[in-house]
Amino acid sequence: MKLFLSIALSATIVVMGYAEDKPATPKTKPAVETKTDKIVKTDEEWRKLLTPEQYRVTRTAGTERPFGEAYEKFNAEGEGTYYCVACGAELFTSNEKFHSGCGWPSFYDASKAKGVQEHVDNSGGMHRIETTCKRCDAHLGHVFEGEGFNTPTNRRFCINAAALKFVPTKGARPELQTLEQGKKNAAEARKADEEKLK
Ligand SMILES: [Zn+2]
Repeated sequence: MKLFLSIALSATIVVMGYAEDKPATPKTKPAVETKTDKIVKTDEEWRKLLTPEQYRVTRTAGTERPFGEAYEKFNAEGEGTYYCVACGAELFTSNEKFHSGCGWPSFYDASKAKGVQEHVDNSGGMHRIETTCKRCDAHLGHVFEGEGFNTPTNRRFCINAAALKFVPTKGARPELQTLEQGKKNAAEARKADEEKLK
């Protein structure tokens, strides 16, 4: 039974594209970690995995309302780590967090895990640098430079709170998500959203 379960699980994982989670490779091939630790899911899968707001921000490059409830929560958070809400990859820590007063979570740098990617974004007639999650390509926000904030980098990662999952220093880091976990988490988050609207 156990064997069957593990085979079934491996099959599910492979189907979902976690190539690096495949059972041990034969000894003839060196077990080198692949650099393509990418999560690729269909739009339908992302919709199931994320709440509508998380989906809008991370998958359609949306921007949340500034000074919203999620931002208030962000300001109140203490020491800890910020993970990608879509896939669980580490993005930022409270060490790089600062209060810019812009209405969105601000960091002066990504964390040492280097999970944040930067791209030129010329949409909307503006020249900006977009930031995304290196693992799942979730849109996070933008990074602005040379604004004169008194930080070590003079950069401001302006990030949507909806794209982040905060875990306090002594909390357990979230598991890198599979689709099944994601569905469960999204169902719970959706329920909480609905409760709030009642
Ligand atoms: Zn991600």
